[in-house]
Amino acid sequence: MSADKDVMIEAVDINKEYRRAGAIIRALADVNLKIRSGEFAVIQGPTGCGKSTLLNVLSGLDLPDSGRIIFDGENIARATEDRLSRLRRQKIGFVFQDFNLVNTLTAMENVESVLWPTVLRQKEIENRAITALRDVDLLDRKDHYPVQMSGGEKQRCGIARAIIHRPRVILADEATGNLDPESEKQVMDLLKKINKEMETTIIFVTHRDLSQYGTKTIRMDKGRIIKIQ
Ligand code: ADP
Ligand code: MG
Repeated sequence: MSADKDVMIEAVDINKEYRRAGAIIRALADVNLKIRSGEFAVIQGPTGCGKSTLLNVLSGLDLPDSGRIIFDGENIARATEDRLSRLRRQKIGFVFQDFNLVNTLTAMENVESVLWPTVLRQKEIENRAITALRDVDLLDRKDHYPVQMSGGEKQRCGIARAIIHRPRVILADEATGNLDPESEKQVMDLLKKINKEMETTIIFVTHRDLSQYGTKTIRMDKGRIIKIQ
């Protein structure tokens, strides 16, 4: 057994470039990173420094030009598309800046939708959705549509959707970017609670300084990790 068996995600020598109008942009330059199980990693850096690219590469949504990602012991560079999408469905919950809720579904249905289609009985899906909505303190809004919810409520719904399948990891990309300061604090406190109580590993990327919520802060600039503290 390796001494690093508690490593949840490891990035080794990751490089990724984009070419635009003849110029080469090094979106990720020699990135090495270990996220341990149970950590709440805040990845902070200015707009354009490569945060979203890194998050996409860590979850296998995007491929690096070189380097390896080991996700929960599995080298995802070698995984098929099918295996990758199963891994994401089972092990990762995603939280987005613009919530990504379906406007024609209620809060409850948005949360349930992660489990469709499935072998689970509808009653079981409902029970899990109710538990997830209770976990984010949104049960009283379960029949509301997204237009009937505030930004903070929409993001708590987004978090309920991200945790309904009890993922090992939550990946959040600027998840408080569209929220007022009070809702931002609520969402960060909620993620902290989930991190502690459910032992979910969290990787939260932001251009804002939210380092006080993390167990670790990773600072990026121009595609590089410049500081880990
Ligand atoms: P961040 O999330 O920190 O704002 P990104 O990861 O989105 O940064 O982008 C990093 C750099 O790569 C930026 O310069 C951005 O313009 C560039 N970039 C990102 N995606 C693409 C793409 N699909 N095509 C070309 N350039 C891209
Ligand atoms: Mg981004």
